[in-house]
Amino acid sequence: MLEAAPDAMVVVNQGGEIVLVNVQAEKQFGYRRDELVGQKVKNIIPEGFAERLIADATRSTAEALAQQIGMGIELSGRRKDGSDFPIEIMLSPLESAEGILVTAAIRGIGARKAAEKHLAQMEDRRRVTETALRESEEGYRMLLDGVRDYAIFMMDPQGLVVSWNAGAERIKGYTAEQIIGHNFACFFPAEDIERGRPGEVLRMTAACGRHEERGMRVRKDGSRFLSSLAFAALRDTEGKLRGFSEFSHDLSEETASDARYRGLLEAAPDAMVVVNQRGEIVLLNVQAEKQFGYSRDELVGQRVKNIIPDGFAERLIADATRSTADALAQQIGTGLELSGRRKDGSEFPIEIMLSPLESAEGILVTAAIRDISVRKAAEEHLVQMEGRYRGLLEAAPDAMVVVNQGGEIVLVNVQAEKQFGYSRDQLVGQKVKNIIPEGFAERLIADATRSVADALAQQIGMGIELLGRRKDGSEFPIEIMLSPLESAEGILVTAAIRNISVRKKSEEDNAELERRVEERTKELAVANQVLGQSNLELKQFAYVASHDLQSPLRSISGFVQLLQLEYEGKLDEQARDWIRRTVQSIEQMQTLIRDLLSYSRVDARSRPFTRIPFPDVVNDALTLLDSSIHDSGAQITCGPLPEITGDRSQLVQLVQNLIGNGLTYRGDQPPRIHLSAEPSGKEWIFSVRDNGIGIDPKYHEQIFEIFKRLHDQKEYPGTGIGLAVCRRVVNRHGGRIWVESEPGHGSIFRFTIPEGTELTNAHPTN
Ligand code: ADP
Repeated sequence: MLEAAPDAMVVVNQGGEIVLVNVQAEKQFGYRRDELVGQKVKNIIPEGFAERLIADATRSTAEALAQQIGMGIELSGRRKDGSDFPIEIMLSPLESAEGILVTAAIRGIGARKAAEKHLAQMEDRRRVTETALRESEEGYRMLLDGVRDYAIFMMDPQGLVVSWNAGAERIKGYTAEQIIGHNFACFFPAEDIERGRPGEVLRMTAACGRHEERGMRVRKDGSRFLSSLAFAALRDTEGKLRGFSEFSHDLSEETASDARYRGLLEAAPDAMVVVNQRGEIVLLNVQAEKQFGYSRDELVGQRVKNIIPDGFAERLIADATRSTADALAQQIGTGLELSGRRKDGSEFPIEIMLSPLESAEGILVTAAIRDISVRKAAEEHLVQMEGRYRGLLEAAPDAMVVVNQGGEIVLVNVQAEKQFGYSRDQLVGQKVKNIIPEGFAERLIADATRSVADALAQQIGMGIELLGRRKDGSEFPIEIMLSPLESAEGILVTAAIRNISVRKKSEEDNAELERRVEERTKELAVANQVLGQSNLELKQFAYVASHDLQSPLRSISGFVQLLQLEYEGKLDEQARDWIRRTVQSIEQMQTLIRDLLSYSRVDARSRPFTRIPFPDVVNDALTLLDSSIHDSGAQITCGPLPEITGDRSQLVQLVQNLIGNGLTYRGDQPPRIHLSAEPSGKEWIFSVRDNGIGIDPKYHEQIFEIFKRLHDQKEYPGTGIGLAVCRRVVNRHGGRIWVESEPGHGSIFRFTIPEGTELTNAHPTN
């Protein structure tokens, strides 16, 4: 059933094993059938296919398949000899007793080369055929030239003479050079030409295939003679009229013509039998001997009923109501299908053409008998093929349409019905142009310059992209694969039609996605450049702040101190107050600049990370805060603290800022500050708890922003930079920082540092 498919077909089970293949699969992969069946499909399609068949933990086979069905997947096939070739696969599921099987239609898409080769071969074959034809034509011409008693020549469809034998020259008096290219009307008497008889003869011949008559003809020298003529229409295999033949002789020469007639009979390709009105065989040729298995003497004088049991003799023997001539007239020129019987009793189908022959004994009938068993077998074969083919068509995953040379649909499958939205009866007999408006019918119907076979040869095996049109008028992109199918009605073409809209869409989507990624990348590059620029500006600002701002400030502070020292006694109280406030402001500004510098240096002045026991960090910070701790009478305690990886001086700054704030934002009680750390997942959470004034939750985020303060200088001095520095330091170490606090209930600042290690037992000193 799979065999007639143009693609290689492989049926695979859920274990990824091949259970069925067709001959195209054997060919494409270079294995014999028994080598393929039972093999893992991975051996012939190494990647991507088996994975689609075998369910993984997260989804069932059916789901895995559902995503693939109906889509062309491009993969690589591997031949037995190890060579790879590009393929496209269409899957369709097939439920069976052993679970879901998968039919894969595999198309070698490197087929263009093969098609070209095929074309070259076809071209070679055509050349060979042409030569053979020329040779056989040569033989025929020689044979005809040998016949001197009959004028035999051919004409084109208009009646211009194109060939001329020796008999024609002898009887009509023209040489070949004199007559070829002239109209055969010149053989008719003037009065016949006047009433248009020559044209009429050709028309009758064209209509019936054959025409016979007796009539006066004119020789080259003007003399007239009575002629017996037989015309035949010459048609090519596609039924197109190519010309006519005339077969005639001069009746005045007819004497003891049997012998000559016999000669003619023998040259005929069919079995020929001449029968008299009583139904007796009077003459036959060697083909008749062969076909019926008798020798000549056994047949002559026999009843024709013995070899053609039914229907023939009845036509020859006149009944009471009509003459033999009438009876015959009805049969002449039409092929009758009858049965022939051989000497051994076996029967075979025949077709008979009758033509009458007047003789001294009355009307004789010449029967040309053709054995049509081969043709019949071919017709039956086609019927069988159709039966088989239909099964295959239905199993194919593509829509399949079989089209004849007239461009008419003769067979379709259910997928074609679905894809085009027509029912089967609406499709069959329709012109294929109605569902594939452009490009396809043109490929099937030969134009003047090349035969259908040539036209097809160029297309076979290549995917052609066209548009399909549904019944509702909507169109969709398709790819067509053609394969020829020889049949009794000539070459039929099987077209496997694949809807590629999904493939097209995903190609388009991919292109769109790529375009957007590209756009976004460009945007990011621009943003990056802007960021880089502003970073640079920030660093320059830090430099300006540290250097250019600090030095004038230092001289201002120097001069104000001089004023204080030298003019203390000479100034009044008001002036002294102003100078004191100026000194305060200058100090505040210096702190601001120093804090700002430390903020901008967290990233700029960073040192490589090292392993540090956290108690060491705390000890350093406490040393720096020593006087404030002492002044405030604070009590500072620590839980066990781990060893971590980080930038020591930045971590000291972090702890110093947090403890420092605990000292600054104290309540009525002396400050009590506790440091601790606990592991959480892959990080440490550090906590700094105080008993200070606490923070309203609505400010918990804001306080980490630079310059954000909740108090003025008089209440609590500060710059609003400390927590911003803390956040920068923690971020740089890959952690987070936040606060948990209520006004009046103290605060807990927590921060994380990733990657915990063993707790050290060292306790920092107070
Ligand atoms: P500064 O202390 O220089 O003002 P910070 O960034 O260190 O700047 O702190 C920002 C604000 O957060 C402070 O002005 C203060 O209002 C509040 N704050 C910080 N630490 C505490 C704390 N331990 N208890 C209460 N409020 C605090």
